[in-house]
Amino acid sequence: MRRTLCLAIAGVVLAGQTFRAQAPSQPTIDPRIAKLVASISEERMQQLLQKLSSFKTRNTCSDPSLPDAVGAARQWIFDELTRTSPKLQVSFDTHQLQNVRGCAGTIELRNVVAILPGKSPRRIYVSGHYDSVNLGAGGQQASNAAAAAGTAGGASGGAAAGATRPGAAPQAPGEPPAPDQPPAPRPIRDPNIPAPGANDDGSGTVLSMELARVFAESGIDFDATLVFITVAGEEQGLLGAAAHAKMAKEQKIPIQAWFNNDIVGGSHGGDGIIDSATIRLYSEGPDDSPSRSLAMFAKRVGEAYVPSHQVRLMARRDRFSRGGDHSALNDQGFAAIGFRESRENYAKQHGANDTIDGVDFHYLGQNARVNAAGIATLALAPPPPVVTTTRGAPTIDRRTSGYDAHLRWQTSPGAAGYIVVWRKAWDPDWQHEIAVGNVTEYTFPHMNIDDWVFGVASVDAAGHESAVSAYVMAPRVESSGG
Ligand SMILES: [Zn+2]
Repeated sequence: MRRTLCLAIAGVVLAGQTFRAQAPSQPTIDPRIAKLVASISEERMQQLLQKLSSFKTRNTCSDPSLPDAVGAARQWIFDELTRTSPKLQVSFDTHQLQNVRGCAGTIELRNVVAILPGKSPRRIYVSGHYDSVNLGAGGQQASNAAAAAGTAGGASGGAAAGATRPGAAPQAPGEPPAPDQPPAPRPIRDPNIPAPGANDDGSGTVLSMELARVFAESGIDFDATLVFITVAGEEQGLLGAAAHAKMAKEQKIPIQAWFNNDIVGGSHGGDGIIDSATIRLYSEGPDDSPSRSLAMFAKRVGEAYVPSHQVRLMARRDRFSRGGDHSALNDQGFAAIGFRESRENYAKQHGANDTIDGVDFHYLGQNARVNAAGIATLALAPPPPVVTTTRGAPTIDRRTSGYDAHLRWQTSPGAAGYIVVWRKAWDPDWQHEIAVGNVTEYTFPHMNIDDWVFGVASVDAAGHESAVSAYVMAPRVESSGG
């Protein structure tokens, strides 16, 4: 969407200064990234998913001592990642949890983490949730209907049931849930009944596992540290992702970006519409938040490397009454985005029929390629420039004239230059850009900072560009008048 305006290169003369502003250009294609993207194997993802969905259940509450339940499944993921490459540091990220919805007693929740160390500690994550659930007759379809009718029982993946979000308004008794509020909890059936979870979220799990392979085997020396994580407890309220995010915040682990993939393998919607050429990408607002900026970046770079696939940006946290692990990261202040298949089939979610025949591996492959392009570029590019003071105020002013736009930013490690982008204050996507060289400030004469949104991206010598840091107003605390 960044290139919606088809402006030709336009010479602009302002106050005696000449610069060439242009509509945002295509990002530079790095042949090494193109090769990495092309090496993603649909066949391997199919083999992985065949095995993963053959466990009777991966329900987090299932008996971990059973040979075909959650304990065996997570161990298989661990072993498979370990076999994949000696460059991957594989571990369990283990948490003891009590009072988990649908679980008896204390449970041991284990995320499986594979780290590919980079030159710097900043981390970029890709995730799927390996746990599955069987909600009984009707599965997600019944849940949707219950949510639509305003009755209790609309529990689904994620932020549903049990999870609390800061700022969530309390729900009055007997009142239907607001569309964006979690519905009331719903009891989960016997956790040991069959729950193959092939698409939800075996698809995101094998996507993350395949990306671990191609990044580890790429031979590219990434600047960022890459983390391929498959989490558990999503179906009980984003528990695995939330525990990891909390730990990361406490330990000050610098998570720069998190790409979550949850239900990304089906191209046949339950309403008969088939769409294997697009993927939806959800991100928490407000406009120009780090997550929203990351989503715009993922679209721009993903479509450059995979032009046959379109990323449809959604200016919302997630779907109505549904949640995903990226929101658990947002809750701790990290930039995180959620990929969702283009059309869902609710009749094949959260039931015994979420089987591998519902997964289109060509489609899953395209979605994996879009993820890989964004992650690889981000991992080679410098971090986005800092455009705020230590107190969070945007470093933009009107100069002494009062009518110019003066932008300042801090140098990003590894940057060889910067690109300034701008758009009208009503438009959603960057309309213009200018490469300003290796400087840390720039002035647009006679451009009123109230009428335009400005941002800056950093670029390294090879042309890898970061996500955009935008100059945004601090949230309004109270009305101060005109
Ligand atoms: Zn899911």
